[in-house]
Amino acid sequence: MPDASGIETQAFFKTIKLDAIDDSLPQEIKTACGVDVETCLECGKCSGGCSNVRIFDITPRQVVKLIKTGQEKPLLAMDALWACVSCQLCGDRCPAGIDIARIMDYLREKAYQKGIKATRYQVQLFHELMLGFIKKTGRVAEGQLIIRFNLKTGRYFKDADLGRRLFLKGKIKPFSSKIKNREDLRRIFQESIEREEDQ
Ligand code: SF4
Ligand code: SF4
Repeated sequence: MPDASGIETQAFFKTIKLDAIDDSLPQEIKTACGVDVETCLECGKCSGGCSNVRIFDITPRQVVKLIKTGQEKPLLAMDALWACVSCQLCGDRCPAGIDIARIMDYLREKAYQKGIKATRYQVQLFHELMLGFIKKTGRVAEGQLIIRFNLKTGRYFKDADLGRRLFLKGKIKPFSSKIKNREDLRRIFQESIEREEDQ
């Protein structure tokens, strides 16, 4: 039956025997994100407040429930991973303080590392381009990011007029300077790679 957001739950939740639940996923989320999903009250406030739930195939409340019941496969394949905009409204509304945006971020990265195809190619592309800029300079040059994104998606002149106006008003810069301490930046990326290799 549909939950408060109108999304069908039956497709995701089959009858599960309590003693058959694998708790390795909740433990992994606790270690990686510092979030204990066992504190979830299943109140649904996260789904009710989510800015994009109307286009989610799995609601934030369902995401937490799937983690609690150790069902990683549908989580890594869900479209919601690529439709979540990290706005954190869900976490702000959660009475248990569960940081769902952080969980979504972790699952998105895990799906990416496992080579699971993103359901929204353009979101993955944007993610890759932005991380590429950060890795190189520690900052994001918005102008270059938009141009590269539009070139790679074949929409050559999209945003051209808006970009020109923003540039003239000094709202975006065509180039960005590099941060001073790039050694720290290199270390953060290296530690992230090592953590992934350990998992
Ligand atoms: S708002 Fe928090 S406690 Fe309520 S269902 Fe969502 S995650 Fe669980
Ligand atoms: S962070 Fe993602 S899941 Fe949470 S409210 Fe925003 S779009 Fe919804």
